[in-house]
Amino acid sequence: MIVDCHTHLWKSPEEFSEGLRDELASVGYSDEIMDVSPERHAAATSGADCSIVFGLRAALSGFLTVNDTVAKYVRTDPEKLIGFAALDPTEPGVLEELERAVGQLGLRGIKLTPIYSGYHPWDERAWPIYERAEALELPILFHQGATFPRKAPLKFALPHQLEDIALRHPNLKIVVAHLGHPWEAETIVLIRKQPNVFSDISGLHGRPWQFYNSLRLAVEYGVVHKLLFGTDFPFFTFEDTVDGLHNIVEMSQKMGVPPLPTELPDEIIHRNTLKLLGLKG
Ligand SMILES: [Zn+2]
Repeated sequence: MIVDCHTHLWKSPEEFSEGLRDELASVGYSDEIMDVSPERHAAATSGADCSIVFGLRAALSGFLTVNDTVAKYVRTDPEKLIGFAALDPTEPGVLEELERAVGQLGLRGIKLTPIYSGYHPWDERAWPIYERAEALELPILFHQGATFPRKAPLKFALPHQLEDIALRHPNLKIVVAHLGHPWEAETIVLIRKQPNVFSDISGLHGRPWQFYNSLRLAVEYGVVHKLLFGTDFPFFTFEDTVDGLHNIVEMSQKMGVPPLPTELPDEIIHRNTLKLLGLKG
């Protein structure tokens, strides 16, 4: 079974601020790329047996996904799609929104973006979210790594900043998106020591040298079993991500550098992510 643990859906351009649209365009994310209709999402993710889907909610950066948008789409194919609620603890009413997203909308996990929203992961405003997530067995996928909007503070982006959460909530399932790029090594040592912290490999194949080093480090630290498959659609496609994994292994085996194992792509692509995250299976 192939699970894509990291895909996006939103209404474009309605759920982006004007300033964000300019910033997206400046880094090459055109309106065309960002326009994720349900039809486009379904077609692009057809290679996966199950896709986890969420928007982004970060008032500071101008990502304004309404969770109903995701929930409505998930209801079109509940066997294949699992929706996560995008939450911003800097916004009033975030706890009510969490309860509504789970109780009324049927969403089954949470997407948090400290750097985009402008809070430290250990900010007390986020604590009740972690408590409820652990109690309700909702995995949290953190964008804990760099990003492009100018106002998004890098000081809140470091992967090790999730460690206090993992210690206080040992049963909470946490996924660090994109191996915490460009702090992949920090993510690798974090997932090695925290049993319920995982990471996805989405969005990394476009920087092949860093991707190679990150995967090689994951092999050396013995944490490949904590790496989950994800695409970060619409920024990257399913096919590109699968090919990127195979290509990096092939490249490593030809270059005279410490090679990546031949079985590594299939191991990651066929990871039993739903079971690891307590979602089902
Ligand atoms: Zn993403």
